[in-house]
Amino acid sequence: MLTVKAYAATSATEPLAPTTIERRDLGPHDVLIDIRYSGICHSDIHTARSEWGPTTYPIVVGHEIAGVVREVGPEVSKFSVGDRVGVGCMVDSCRECDNCRKGLEQYCLNGNIGTYGAVDRDGRPTQGGYAQAIVVTEDFVLRIPDGIELDAAAPLLCAGITTYSPLRHWNAGPGTRVAVIGMGGLGHMAVKLAHAMGAEVTVLSQSLKKREDGLRLGADHYHATSDEETFTKLAGSFDLIINTVSAKIDLDAYLRLLAVDGTLVNVGAPEDPLSVHAFSLIPARRSFAGSMIGGIAETQEMLDFCAERGIGAEIEVIPAEKINDAYERVLASDVRYRFVIDASTF
Ligand SMILES: [Zn+2]
Ligand SMILES: [Zn+2]
Repeated sequence: MLTVKAYAATSATEPLAPTTIERRDLGPHDVLIDIRYSGICHSDIHTARSEWGPTTYPIVVGHEIAGVVREVGPEVSKFSVGDRVGVGCMVDSCRECDNCRKGLEQYCLNGNIGTYGAVDRDGRPTQGGYAQAIVVTEDFVLRIPDGIELDAAAPLLCAGITTYSPLRHWNAGPGTRVAVIGMGGLGHMAVKLAHAMGAEVTVLSQSLKKREDGLRLGADHYHATSDEETFTKLAGSFDLIINTVSAKIDLDAYLRLLAVDGTLVNVGAPEDPLSVHAFSLIPARRSFAGSMIGGIAETQEMLDFCAERGIGAEIEVIPAEKINDAYERVLASDVRYRFVIDASTF
């Protein structure tokens, strides 16, 4: 066992605090990764605070991991010592079900193994990326191409793939009109990626405060949703809407912004149920959908796509002692646009 420094939540209400955790000995197909950077995702906060159901404490969260391979197991074939690598929201899956065979490990019928808060194959709880190192089976390790800095790459492992996958699935590209609800960690990545795919991109944000950023990151249009006129002006004008907001919104109002056959995809996950009026869908054959991260092959495709186009996340690097402050700032939407922890400070 390898003992590494980490930051853990010990209850739903205590601040995260320094601790040490054990990583398993390297199995034949395992990769030991020295973590360099770890992104802070809103899911980390939900989990640390037991907001998505009871969490087993202590827990080390973090599933936007970027680092360098320190050691590999004897049968590892895909990675060598010194490789730049990443780990996202999953560290394993059954690999045998229909979905896993299709490369949709995130929808594993037997449940993918989450990077934190899950039970690993050896029966031990998984602990995530707010740590100095992690051991992961090679099939769930991603290669980070040289074209992206490791700190800016970390958030791609969750925020990046969470938005890339639905954009690809619903064919965002030249000639398609994509709207992004929310200009946060997920939203800013959706803007960059949709723009890079060639779509016409509109941001729908509460206010115009981040308008300049939105336009700089690739949006063609930017509208405030606090302005009632936005909803009349833009009625029926989008092929795809990506909702990145994890709070309750008036879905009916947004669905009416879709053109015929348009789809609104939820990637944000609010605690409470959302309601939809059937007549927001029926008169224009609209769809309301959800999407969760992406498969391993698709995540690699996303990293390669980003590297070729020089796309990384907009980040603010912080030392570990600032994690609790960062959580408060995420909740106050006071981040442009992703906090990334410098793992040398754990
Ligand atoms: Zn996440
Ligand atoms: Zn499976």
